[in-house]
Amino acid sequence: MKAIRIHSLGGPEVLKLEEIPDPQPGEGQAVVRVEAAGVNYVDVYFRTGLYKMPALPFIPGQEAAGTVVAVGPGVTEVAVGDRAAYTGIQGTYAELAVAPAARLVKIPAGITTRQAAAAMLQGITAHYLATSTYPLQPGDVCIVHAAAGGVGQLLCQIAKLRGARVFGTVSTEAKARIAREAGADEVILYSQQDFSAEAKRLNGGKGVQVIYDGVGRTTFDKGLDTLAPRGLMALFGQASGPVPPFDPSILNQKGSLYLTRPSMGHYIADRDELMWRAGEVLGWIAEGKLRLSIDREMPLAQAADAHRALEGRETTGKVLLIP
Ligand code: NDP
Repeated sequence: MKAIRIHSLGGPEVLKLEEIPDPQPGEGQAVVRVEAAGVNYVDVYFRTGLYKMPALPFIPGQEAAGTVVAVGPGVTEVAVGDRAAYTGIQGTYAELAVAPAARLVKIPAGITTRQAAAAMLQGITAHYLATSTYPLQPGDVCIVHAAAGGVGQLLCQIAKLRGARVFGTVSTEAKARIAREAGADEVILYSQQDFSAEAKRLNGGKGVQVIYDGVGRTTFDKGLDTLAPRGLMALFGQASGPVPPFDPSILNQKGSLYLTRPSMGHYIADRDELMWRAGEVLGWIAEGKLRLSIDREMPLAQAADAHRALEGRETTGKVLLIP
């Protein structure tokens, strides 16, 4: 099969298309013929070494959908021929990928395989952030950073489904329009405006209940100044770079704040939780309550260009690789 492999950590150029042996399913595993693989910021972190893989070379990618073509002993969750999607298992930038069958979600009727590939990682992330990390209630005010991005657009929509007031931040006017279409009540150009002052002005001088921050270095400190007392900073990523070491007494000084650094894996750790979150996300898409934004679909061989576009802030929504 053809797959993208990384032999040494570095820039997008380390993503190389190669011919390698087909994977075989072990006990409890399934092999999926990948119809679309999602590109996510986490793939950049593994490519650069910010997040560590135990060994090189490896096949990047943590999100895919396709058709099950083989199952190992003991698999009950899926059968050969099923359309299935999954996330959180490395190795999806490939024609064939192997995953624990317990991580596979059958794709419901009314959802295309490419939609399922696009929904799993960013959709489940937006779901857990808005429903569990800080369960938004009507009347809450939240900030969604990078609101025109992949997670950002989905998070704005889910926050609105839960009745919250949403302030989205973006870097350009074009992205501001996209964030508004995703439901942001107010959009702040954090590239030009002081987002903290602007958010407080829009909120009658008060801080907000929660900040969903996937941007990291450039937004974190100012975010702490923008929370209401006992507000929650959900730092879920670092598109602008990691947040430096931090003195916890700052949380006291700024209003008994809470800080969490959540990861999707801990919110889909058992199959019941995975099926609940994926079921709601895919169900909302099928019902038209949640709109997926697929920014671009590119051939698998162009994985490096896909990473350049994501890191270059060119994308607004999902990037898919098509093997
Ligand atoms: P996005 O589509 O949101 O792309 C990243 C966006 O971040 C850019 O479009 C850009 O929007 C903004 N950004 C701000 N500063 C920079 C910078 N210096 N360089 C690049 N981008 C910048 O990506 P994803 O939706 O895939 O991921 C968003 C974040 O969510 C990432 O940090 C990712 O790691 C995190 N994440 C975390 C998960 C978890 O469970 N913890 C799961 C999934 C994603 P703008 O131009 O408007 O500033």
